[in-house]
Amino acid sequence: MSILTAIDLNKTYGKGLSTVKALTDINLSFEKGRFTSIIGPSGSGKSTLLHCIAGLDSITNGKVLLNDKDISKLSEDELSKLRREKFGFIFQSFNLIPVVNVYENIVLPVNIDNKKVDKKYINNLISILGLKDKVDKFPNELSGGQQQRVAIARALANKPEIIFADEPTGNLDTKTTYEVMDLLKKCVNEFGQTLIMITHNNEIAAMADKVITIKDGKAS
Ligand code: ADP
Ligand code: ADP
Repeated sequence: MSILTAIDLNKTYGKGLSTVKALTDINLSFEKGRFTSIIGPSGSGKSTLLHCIAGLDSITNGKVLLNDKDISKLSEDELSKLRREKFGFIFQSFNLIPVVNVYENIVLPVNIDNKKVDKKYINNLISILGLKDKVDKFPNELSGGQQQRVAIARALANKPEIIFADEPTGNLDTKTTYEVMDLLKKCVNEFGQTLIMITHNNEIAAMADKVITIKDGKAS
């Protein structure tokens, strides 16, 4: 079953003479509970695609359907609510809050919406990600791989339907990259979530159920 679908999606940056056509006629669907990787050369449009389908960036033409609902016409406020409630984000830079500890970093997305923290779920997540003995530490006391594991736990904390990851292992060495990817896959399998991930690493991309290649703003 398709959870997210891009229909004739086009994205142009800028106006007038200085426009950049970043995406051309993208038609893609992402299956629920599956891991899809997006690969392609630098500047091909990967980040633009991720931002457009995740409601972070407006689209120029076309539609983005989330469970058959067109999200491309939503207001900024509606999109913000949608992102907080249904999506989780992981980036190359871990974006942890330096002044609060690991546990507080993880439950922050849940607290923002004043939802009740599902302690059992969060503890399970912490345990799978091997962070049990790190919950009281601060981000600067952790290695890069550990920080990214915290960022993964944070992205999963509000039980998102879709996790969007933009080069999540871009700042990690090879060994740590595989450890983090294995854990991310384990979480996604454990909780049946949908993962959409950009990478420029072919071996990492091949860990996915499906690989999409972007070249010159077109998908194949
Ligand atoms: P990738 O993620 O594959 O490296 P991007 O999606 O970042 O590619 O970029 C695709 C194209 O869109 C590039 O030509 C890039 O220069 C251009 N682009 C990206 N963001 C912007 C922006 N905010 N304004 C203008 N052009 C942009
Ligand atoms: P609000 O508008 O309510 O402050 P945000 O847009 O800041 O909400 O954040 C909603 C979600 O989108 C967060 O999970 C955040 O990590 C992500 N996000 C916001 N801006 C960007 C961006 N420029 N690139 C990638 N992710 C972003």
